[in-house]
Amino acid sequence: MIEPVYIGLGSNLGDSENTISDAVNALSESADITINAVSSLYKSAPMGPKNQPDYFNAVCEISTSLDPIELLDLCQNIESTHGRERKGERWGPRTLDLDILLYSTNTINEERLTIPHAGIAQREFVLVPLFELAPTLIMPDGRPIAKWVADCSLDGLSRLR
Ligand code: ATP
Ligand code: CA
Ligand code: CA
Repeated sequence: MIEPVYIGLGSNLGDSENTISDAVNALSESADITINAVSSLYKSAPMGPKNQPDYFNAVCEISTSLDPIELLDLCQNIESTHGRERKGERWGPRTLDLDILLYSTNTINEERLTIPHAGIAQREFVLVPLFELAPTLIMPDGRPIAKWVADCSLDGLSRLR
């Protein structure tokens, strides 16, 4: 059985709403990916440097036959296609960010890839859309996602649609 994989999408430069829906379409165009569900669109206050626009965020659930590194390569290609530039500033503004949040129940600690994604527990803009898609998900520490959401500050997050 192919188990679900969750991808977090973020953008705060350019036409972010369109970029996020284009990115979902780009994932769906891969013969190796099926999109199972896409969360509502959210807006969040920036993490890290505050002198940048608010972020648009969503999470999608996919099934894929790509292995985790192949999926990361595809995500980074899609980011590049949408004008993502890495300028060395951590958490700086970007046209598109695709993070692999969970890859089934796998734990990966490689140079290019940490799964579950390192920021999940503290990030309301990831946990809330993920909870929307998978309310009964058991997180890597064995606790239900509802507990993670309850323990996370939801400040600065709003659901757009
Ligand atoms: P953060 O990872 O804290 O959300 P970021 O998204 O701004 O920050 P990026 O510049 O997009 O960070 O990515 C830096 C590197 O993180 C990538 O080159 C990639 O190799 C690595 N990385 C590690 N784990 C993951 C993951 N689960 N999903 C996506 N990239 C990952
Ligand atoms: Ca990120
Ligand atoms: Ca990223």
